[in-house]
Amino acid sequence: MVEKLSLGSIQADVLRKRIKHVHLGVFPPEGAVRISAPEHMALDTIRVFAISKLAWIKSQQRKMQTQVREPERDYINRESHYVWGKRYLLQIQELQAPAKITLKHKTLLLQVRPGTSREKRQELLEAWYRQQVRQEAQALVRKWQAIMGVQAGKLLVQRMKTKWGSCNPKTGLIRLNTDLAKKPPEHLEYVVVHELAHLIEASHSERFVAAMDMFLPKWQLYRAELNSLPVRHEVWGQH
Ligand SMILES: [Zn+2]
Repeated sequence: MVEKLSLGSIQADVLRKRIKHVHLGVFPPEGAVRISAPEHMALDTIRVFAISKLAWIKSQQRKMQTQVREPERDYINRESHYVWGKRYLLQIQELQAPAKITLKHKTLLLQVRPGTSREKRQELLEAWYRQQVRQEAQALVRKWQAIMGVQAGKLLVQRMKTKWGSCNPKTGLIRLNTDLAKKPPEHLEYVVVHELAHLIEASHSERFVAAMDMFLPKWQLYRAELNSLPVRHEVWGQH
């Protein structure tokens, strides 16, 4: 059951859970506030806690609302699309043949059957981006597993709304965001190293930071760049 908590101009959803402590989060894209609270905690106690976080909530919401957004795409000729941090102009070529995507100089050539819909063109490009990330990430995982002395599990590349990547330290499952194919290659490498470092240390503790500093001394720069580049329609975090 979700309770509503009103904090002046801010509305928060309160979810009751079997937990010991209250947690508060601000979520993209609009900055929705969600509070997880122990089942029997008084609403007034939750309110006092939330009010103590108001300044932080507002700063998080401001950040999400001012973040540069990448415009909606129509998947038409002469539209800009990014591949590994470089800008390409989309060229649609209609042909009675299986769909194909190729990079040629500054052109991203999308060959489709005549009359292919916008949705289908988007889907084709997304699948291609996913394949790009998978291919590069597999090589990077192999390289960094050996350097870091860890063993990753399954690798999944998918659309992710709020994260560049994630790692389950128990199963070794690594998920990567398809949109990494639009960013410079060193950003993918940073995310791969970050996720593999979770196999050394599950949390973002000092030990985790020390591992990152050792393996990828410039990781903080990559993280800052990754978070300042245009995002699709969401705000990105990383875990
Ligand atoms: Zn992390």
